[in-house]
Amino acid sequence: MRRRRRDAGWGIVSPARRNRSSKRSSIVFLDRDGTLIEEGDYLRDPRQVKVIPGAAGALRRLGRAGFPLVVLSNQSGVGRGLITARQLRAVRKRFEDLFRRRGIRFDGYYWCPHAPGDRCDCRKPKLGLVKRAARNLGRPWRRHVSIGDRRSDVQIGQRTGGLGILVTTGYGKSWRGRLGRVRPDAIVPDIGRAASWILRRHKKGIVG
Ligand SMILES: [Mg+2]
Repeated sequence: MRRRRRDAGWGIVSPARRNRSSKRSSIVFLDRDGTLIEEGDYLRDPRQVKVIPGAAGALRRLGRAGFPLVVLSNQSGVGRGLITARQLRAVRKRFEDLFRRRGIRFDGYYWCPHAPGDRCDCRKPKLGLVKRAARNLGRPWRRHVSIGDRRSDVQIGQRTGGLGILVTTGYGKSWRGRLGRVRPDAIVPDIGRAASWILRRHKKGIVG
C-alpha cells in the first residue's frame, strides 16, 4: 500500500509545452487551494471547487505578459489516507474545467501526494517539482516566482533565487503572523494583487 502511494508520486496534467516560445524566463508557480480556489480542507468533492474572485483575470494578465503558469499543490490528504486518487483526479478535472472556461490553460499542474513525514523530494517547500516543471518547460530552475497562502509557497520562489508572494486569502492571514525567518517579497490580499505586483516589477525590468 505504502509502495503504491509512493509510486503515485507527482503528475503533470497539461502536456509540458517544452517548445513554447515564451518571452519570459520566470515561471509563475501557483498554489491551488486558498490561492486560486477557495480553501476546503482536503478538498475531495468537485462540487466544492470555487474559483477565488479575480483569479482568472489575474492569470490572464500574467499569461498575456508571457509568464508560464504552473500549478504546484501539496495534497497530503492522499498520503494521510483522507482522499483517494480518484477524488483527487475529479477535483483537478473540475479545477481545470473552470479555468479553461475562463480562457486559462496552465503550462503544468503538479502535485505532491505525500504526508509531511514521508521522505519525498516533492512536498513544498522542497524543490523537486519546481525543478521538474522547469526542466519540462526547457528552462533552468533558477529565479522563478511563487504565489500562495502558506510559508512553504513563499519559500519555493525564494529558494530558486527568485521571489515569493504571500496572499492573505485561504490560510494566508493565519500564516502571516508565523512566518519565522521567512520574509515574503510581498504580502497582498489576493491573487489579483499578486499579479499586479509582478507585472509592475516586470515593467521595471525587475522580474524577467
Ligand atoms: Mg494553499
